[in-house]
Amino acid sequence: TFEVSVTLLGPQGGRDRTVLVLRDITRQVTMENDLRAATAALAVLANTDDLTGLANRRRLVERLKEEVERSRRYGRPLSLILLDLDHFKGVNDACGHAAGDEVLRVTARAMESVCRDLDVPGRMGGEEFAVILPETDAAGARTLADRLRLEIARCLHSPEGHEPFQVTASLGVATLDPESDRGVEALMQAADEAMYRAKDQGRNRVAMAR
Ligand code: GH3
Ligand code: MG
Ligand code: MG
Repeated sequence: TFEVSVTLLGPQGGRDRTVLVLRDITRQVTMENDLRAATAALAVLANTDDLTGLANRRRLVERLKEEVERSRRYGRPLSLILLDLDHFKGVNDACGHAAGDEVLRVTARAMESVCRDLDVPGRMGGEEFAVILPETDAAGARTLADRLRLEIARCLHSPEGHEPFQVTASLGVATLDPESDRGVEALMQAADEAMYRAKDQGRNRVAMAR
């Protein structure tokens, strides 16, 4: 790759003279492209949960902030589902941590299969997941939460040397009230509170924020 500069010197000795300078900038351009690619790859890494490939907590919170803004500005509905696997410690204890990790990956795929294009599924950490639902009111979020619960419970896990088993989840659903000035924190807290109510009521169920 060359950088070219042209300078007209004007008439000299009856002829127009021009100076053409060609500078080889191949190395510089290659380095810039490499840097751009590395920066983009790093941004993906920083936003991705490496076990499941879903959005990580950092990305979920960042995205939730954007969606709360949007929901308020345009008066659009917005919901959040928090989901925690039931008795997951038992899976690790009985089958080992690697089998537990595989259950988390399968759960992530089940979530993706149920979610629509606009939805943002992610892993908050441990065995806790979330789905951001833009353009979705409480009734729509309830429907998706029920589908998520059924799809997760339907997965059959069969680690080597163990009897196949199923894992259930408890889900909490919260919907943003665009009129109130409560934001991301309040929405997450409401979904969390509902999720713990689902646990208290016996697990493998969906609870709506009050
Ligand atoms: P509950 O129904 O009340 O949610 O019970 P629980 O056993 O799911 O909840 P608890 O919080 O007691 O245990 C969560 C377990 O999740 C503990 C830990 O061993 C496991 N865990 C957290 N992160 C990971 C992970 O990345 N991989 C694996 N395999 N296990 C994890
Ligand atoms: Mg759990
Ligand atoms: Mg938990």
